[in-house]
Amino acid sequence: MNRRTIIAGNWKMNTRAQSGVELAKGVAAAVGQHPSVEVAVCPPSVYLGCIADVLAGSAVGLGAQNLYPAEDGAYTGETNAAMLTDIGCRYVILGHSERRAILGETDAQVSEKLAATLAGNLVPIVCVGETLEDREAGKTEAVVESQLRGSLEGLDEARAPGVVIAYEPVWAIGTGKTASPEQAEEVHAFIRKLLADIFSEDVASQMRIQYGGSVKPGNAKELLGQPNIDGALVGGASLAVDDFVAIINAGA
Ligand code: PEP
Repeated sequence: MNRRTIIAGNWKMNTRAQSGVELAKGVAAAVGQHPSVEVAVCPPSVYLGCIADVLAGSAVGLGAQNLYPAEDGAYTGETNAAMLTDIGCRYVILGHSERRAILGETDAQVSEKLAATLAGNLVPIVCVGETLEDREAGKTEAVVESQLRGSLEGLDEARAPGVVIAYEPVWAIGTGKTASPEQAEEVHAFIRKLLADIFSEDVASQMRIQYGGSVKPGNAKELLGQPNIDGALVGGASLAVDDFVAIINAGA
């Protein structure tokens, strides 16, 4: 199965209007019109509109870092799928470990958001991953399985191939510690086996699984070269045009 590599930059809460515009311009210019790799950037929600303007007509997709799973209504402070589509988004990151840890986001909430994302014809990037404590206690597979099954609860098999999974070991996010290619591949293969169990071998072979956790220009090629690693979700290194473009090129 030929899965197109997908590299997404998660800018988190780290840019302002000007720095975001410069970053988006730099990435769009470097990526060109027909990249072999699918590329997206996910700015803070308040800047989605101005980054959409910069990316218009480019091959770089726009993503949000979250959404609220409801139709328009009395939900102060929230943003729904229709609004994200309206402003030009194509992707939505769901269940990032920072949201799980800081905001208490649960698998049940992620599954509701997943349904809303797909109903809005946006591409979900569903994040799962174990903490260092989980890993040291030998619970990596149990934690990843429980998050994955819970987050994908109710997902229709026909829509599953359009869902992107991001395996992000929490101990590797923003720490400079990367999972070795072998460690990452082991969990990615496990996730693909789980997806085959939840859906089918055929569906699992079509689903893309990104790795995230201190991906840098120096380690991207080896990680992206693993058979079950189909892309990267990049935090820190997506904030510098040269680093992010080097990671994209490593996946080409
Ligand atoms: C992330 O935020 O999803 C991430 C992987 O961050 P970093 O690349 O900085 O570890």
